[in-house]
Amino acid sequence: MELSEEIRDKYQPVIGLEIHAQMLTKTKAYSNDKNEYGATPNSNVSPITLGHPGTLPRMNSKTIDYAIKMGLACGSDIAPEQHFARKNYFYPDLPKGYQITQDTTPICTGGAIVVKDADGNDKSIAVTRIHMEEDAGKSIHDIDPFNTLIDLNRAGVPLIEIVSEPDIRTSQEAYNYVTEVRKLVRYLEICDGNMEEGSLRCDANISVMLKGAKEYGVRVEVKNMNSIRNVQRAIEHEITRLIIATENGEPLFQETRNFDALKGTTTAMRSKEAANDYRFFPEPDLQPIRVTQEKIANLKAEMPPLPAALFAKYTKELGLSEYDGNLLTDQKEIALYFEDIIKHTKNYKAAVNWLMGDIKSYLNTNAVGISEFPISAENIAGLIALIDDGKISNNLASQKVFPAMLTQNDTALNVSEQNDWIQDSDDGAILEIIKSVFEENPAEYERFKAGEQRLMGFLMGKVMQKSKGKADPKSASKLINEFIKF
Ligand code: ADP
Ligand code: MG
Repeated sequence: MELSEEIRDKYQPVIGLEIHAQMLTKTKAYSNDKNEYGATPNSNVSPITLGHPGTLPRMNSKTIDYAIKMGLACGSDIAPEQHFARKNYFYPDLPKGYQITQDTTPICTGGAIVVKDADGNDKSIAVTRIHMEEDAGKSIHDIDPFNTLIDLNRAGVPLIEIVSEPDIRTSQEAYNYVTEVRKLVRYLEICDGNMEEGSLRCDANISVMLKGAKEYGVRVEVKNMNSIRNVQRAIEHEITRLIIATENGEPLFQETRNFDALKGTTTAMRSKEAANDYRFFPEPDLQPIRVTQEKIANLKAEMPPLPAALFAKYTKELGLSEYDGNLLTDQKEIALYFEDIIKHTKNYKAAVNWLMGDIKSYLNTNAVGISEFPISAENIAGLIALIDDGKISNNLASQKVFPAMLTQNDTALNVSEQNDWIQDSDDGAILEIIKSVFEENPAEYERFKAGEQRLMGFLMGKVMQKSKGKADPKSASKLINEFIKF
């Protein structure tokens, strides 16, 4: 598909995203079946999941807590009373013939997620609503060449659906939005955010209109993107396709399309006219839920610091760069470790450098997370203080002290003292060493004194050797130059 810059520039893309996040609960939304990815197919399927006559669903209260936490993170209003509804449709992977969802009373309404726009400025994407529902089973088309296989383990797994307003304008903003949502659910520990395994799924609604137009164009909805990059690719593809269709005067109609990651294209799945009428009605087997202000306050108190607040703190209060702010807040564990270091040091930049340098490379080399990192945040702060006090050099810290701390589980000071690594900044001691070096090398002493500056390297080498690397190189060279004047 070819589209000239000029024509593309006539149009304004409009994008709204629906994100489904599987909740990290131990059991399913309305039964005691385990919520477990990768279990033997159809092993976590009780009569309740199957919706057999006589069974009754029971609400998993963790799902409610998690949905409220997400709402609080987005600044949404939490509905004090909510009802469940049945969404009816037939599909082989939906054993009950309906999903229990929330229709007219979603648990959260309003709020926003702040992302960076194309110019790097903050932009609020409004959240329409967040509601609770349950997942369907999984139809597997690619194991048996002739049949579709069905695994019902996923049926009844709790989901929240986060619906955005059509506030997104570019595929990059959409990319940033999904990245931010994934970061949030991971910080809150309510979803693992794994798009490859489908625990976070994104449907993209896309339309185009002439720039300056008042009314949005007809939207298409694209499904089945298994990575954030593919969400962006699918949107780019649809923008181009919709503009070309509009330019050619082709009629557009609301439809659902499927993204093919290999080809980078979409194909029609179903049109909205042919879509099911879900015949929503109130779920008769579940009581309405009431959420008290006290419960909301308790959940709020449990919440970790959120990435946006941490980013603002690092860049505005601590004076770190946006680049550092992003690195630090990308993963909660890293951000919290940094928070621990800076409880004990004011040298924030050094803390970032250690965390993103030597510590990250230890984690990468050993394929472990920061929770398994052997040095405490307090001891890292101690290491920074030792350098700042001129007791050890940066090089020595990185090459000797840090590796020793990894195995010794002791403070930087103790480790350095035990190994005799504390630098002599004491000029007297260095002078003694310089004197003995000159005594032992009288010929070099004479030549150096006569002006042969290139012997400095040789003399410094001797001084460092005698001091076992502890002499501070700067003061040693200064003292050598002073020594020969007398
Ligand atoms: P449905 O169930 O039909 O998908 P939803 O209300 O769940 O409807 O989701 C609608 C989504 O489509 C929202 O994310 C909304 O922002 C988005 N949307 C609505 N109109 C447009 C439009 N003209 N262009 C792009 N996105 C749109
Ligand atoms: Mg939709």
